Amino acid sequence: MTVGSRVAPDVSVRSRRNTDGRSALAGPAKTTFNAAMAMSARTLAAVLDVLWMDRAGAGRIARRQQARLERMVAHARSASPFYRELYRGLPGGAPDLSALPVVTKPQLMEHFDDVVTDRSVTRAEVDAFLAELGNIGRPFHGSYLVAKSSGTSGHPGVFLLDERARVLATAIPRARGSLTSWFGPVAALRFVATGRRYALVAVGGGPYAAFTMFEWTRREHPKVTGSMRFVSVMDPIEAQVGQLNEFRPRALGGYPSAIRLLAREQAAGRLRIRPMFVVLAGETVVPSARRAIESAFGCPAYEEFGSTENGVLAVQCREGWLHAMTDWYALEAVDARYRPVPDGTRSHTLLVTNLANRLMPLIRYDQGDSVLFRPGPCPCGSRFPAMTVIGRTDDVLVLPGPGGHGTVSLEPAGIVAAVEDTPGISRVQLVQRSAADIEIRLQVDRGADRREVQAAARSRLASFLAAHGAGSVTLHASDDPPALHPVSGKFAQVVRSDALARPRASPARR
Ligand SMILES: [Zn+2]
Repeated sequence: MTVGSRVAPDVSVRSRRNTDGRSALAGPAKTTFNAAMAMSARTLAAVLDVLWMDRAGAGRIARRQQARLERMVAHARSASPFYRELYRGLPGGAPDLSALPVVTKPQLMEHFDDVVTDRSVTRAEVDAFLAELGNIGRPFHGSYLVAKSSGTSGHPGVFLLDERARVLATAIPRARGSLTSWFGPVAALRFVATGRRYALVAVGGGPYAAFTMFEWTRREHPKVTGSMRFVSVMDPIEAQVGQLNEFRPRALGGYPSAIRLLAREQAAGRLRIRPMFVVLAGETVVPSARRAIESAFGCPAYEEFGSTENGVLAVQCREGWLHAMTDWYALEAVDARYRPVPDGTRSHTLLVTNLANRLMPLIRYDQGDSVLFRPGPCPCGSRFPAMTVIGRTDDVLVLPGPGGHGTVSLEPAGIVAAVEDTPGISRVQLVQRSAADIEIRLQVDRGADRREVQAAARSRLASFLAAHGAGSVTLHASDDPPALHPVSGKFAQVVRSDALARPRASPARR
């Protein structure tokens, strides 16, 4: 498993200080050896700590989390005027996490200058830095990574990661979730030997987390640039296919919706690539999308769950569960009033405490994801808590109840599954235009009869809503195509119409 952390596509584990290459090793072994030697001391320490914790029991992981939490809270109190004020009146000493106030993105953005612990950093300076597109992936104030959250909830966010948080955001998932833990060292070496080419399919052209980290890696490690390719989801699908056919990636990462479309191209024979694995991140993964991707590419697709604010919080195991990395994050599944929900119950949101980032402390940060923790241990044997992500809290569809009384809440994945298997559909998007009004947007297969497909999809959706207790809801089949979020480039299969309008301010979320 150690090999994967060195050879996996995210090359932040390599530093500028490459070895002279005069080792006696040859081929893939030499490459792996060089990559290992080139790690910075900090990265190496982080990876070793991850491997050590992977072998620790649950008790040791909990003690490590608590020790890091105490240090982080003490640091925030002393170095961040915002947290000092927020925690005024709370008792000192070892913190009881559940007694600390929750913080939100709008609150942190409003008090940005007082939140960050480097007192020389101001929001005005960060905004000026971000306004220059040439700065994407460049260090800010020497070593800080700046990323803008891009999403759909309407609250713009700008986040700073210090070096440790940046290393952890990249090294942990590689060490824990990627190549070797899934496939073993032989496959890892094969990945290296066949060129370790990695293509990321996401939104570019702005300071979004995935693109920023990609650019950062390219700038810091020019030698690996040739083995990395960025493919923008904003390009026409034919252009994406052309770039990928030319590059022939051995690993593919990116938004599940974008890779799902590419899977259709692969199945149709227009895209002809042979990835060894696919990493899905940035959007909620719908099970049917994962199956379609694995089938088309003939390789496993695994999920990483994270956010711009926090990096990767959980990586998927072979049993299909996401394991929360609780040595570096404290996660709390809570209801709408921030009270804990029991394991096995869907949460309203997720509170995240980042135990790594001392530059911009996030302590009990409301991340806005609905999750469910698995009761009891996972069959895979991991001691890290197993969870599944149900979706963005904002994405849950709330419709009138029977006879117009009360409401019913429906998860996006279920609604989509009811519609998307309609023959002739290549992509579906449901837009809630008002409380009881849903527009069905379809991308229809070549050769299929649009009107027939629309009628079939509408009928399936109506049956699903009726079976789930929804009252009277108007369903429109629209000729508008499914739309990406205008700023983030992400695709939500269920979305409210206001989320597709271009936001007034700059973007938000992941
Ligand atoms: Zn597991």
